[in-house]
Amino acid sequence: MDISKLDQKIKPSGTMAISNKSRELKSQGKPVIGFGAGEPDFPSPDYVVDAAIKAAADPKNHKYSPAAGLESLRQIIAKTTKDYSGFEINSDNVIVSNGGKQSILTAFLSILDPGDEVIIPAPYWTTYPEAVKIAGGTPVFIETEKSNNFKVTVEQLEKSKSKNTKMLVWCSPSNPTGVVYSKEEAEEIYEWIFKNDLWILSDELYEHLVYEGETSPSPAVYDPELKNTIIVNGVSKSYSMTGWRVGWLIGNKSVIGLGKKIQSQATSNVSNVSQLAAEAALLNGLDVTNEMKIAFNRRRLFATEKINSIPNLNVVDSTGAFYLFVDVSHYCSGKNGLNSSEEFCDWLLENYFIAFVPGEVFGTPGFMRLSYALSDEDLDNGLSRLSEAIDNLNE
Ligand code: GLU
Repeated sequence: MDISKLDQKIKPSGTMAISNKSRELKSQGKPVIGFGAGEPDFPSPDYVVDAAIKAAADPKNHKYSPAAGLESLRQIIAKTTKDYSGFEINSDNVIVSNGGKQSILTAFLSILDPGDEVIIPAPYWTTYPEAVKIAGGTPVFIETEKSNNFKVTVEQLEKSKSKNTKMLVWCSPSNPTGVVYSKEEAEEIYEWIFKNDLWILSDELYEHLVYEGETSPSPAVYDPELKNTIIVNGVSKSYSMTGWRVGWLIGNKSVIGLGKKIQSQATSNVSNVSQLAAEAALLNGLDVTNEMKIAFNRRRLFATEKINSIPNLNVVDSTGAFYLFVDVSHYCSGKNGLNSSEEFCDWLLENYFIAFVPGEVFGTPGFMRLSYALSDEDLDNGLSRLSEAIDNLNE
């Protein structure tokens, strides 16, 4: 019997595939160091764990709760959004979801009809185009330039616009490059969106992880009615809570209305225990985030210097998130039997037990992404293995 044609259209998550492969090798006793999926190496804060234990013991939380999320959490999200992101919303503008990933899918399902195009500047986070396709839309890619630090320009957006364009996906600080757009650059893009009356989906999961300079303001700052803007955010990266699966979508009443219908049919509510844990995270502020940031920044500087000192590897200048995007094109031109960044990353994993995500996963072959959200010791050892691997290739 046939299954859906979607099977030929979508790919599994490339970042998750690397994590699975690393886990498999680890279970065989291999000393794998993972630079793959991006998740902080710190445990979730104690007060988060305590709140979850308390929540699990309360029978009220053993039952269904509203599909859009607990009202108390939605109110806290509205408050922290104003405090941290600088735009005003109320709890009716929020749907709590099972992580940012579900929010992204719900956003596309809420906006797209068949034939609608979504502009996605590459390199992009691997999930965006697949989620667009699941929602029946068509991703349209823009190849950005390394010489422009992989930032998209209005000129490029203008060229890729068609009568079917409905949306732009925007991520600053960027996964996978760690690049942060300046306020002026972001404003130019937002102006173009508003002028053309398109949607912008702004992925703000890394908003608190900026190490130098300012973070880009959210498009919602310029669009207080959320006429064109949808925001995705969550607790995963800022509070080291990837496994708890709590993200959220912010939009106007129509977007949230449809999003709620979709989520009520898809999953009902997010686990109450996780939602109350997320409340504790947000209520306790950004101290824990700022502590992690000190470690991330140290690792960012260390890794950038160490990789740039390896012959023919170089890192895209990055000031945010916890990723570095490394140009490895010199080593995948076929000279050493390695014909792509995918083959290069496979070779590193199989021979040196270091896991990186190849640029193909983000629509930009010839590069690889590394997450520096791992311990200083693993970072140092893993990069020494990378250096040794390159020495062997150069021999
Ligand atoms: N967002 C993280 C990453 O890009 C987690 C993995 C995933 O969900 O794809 O590595």
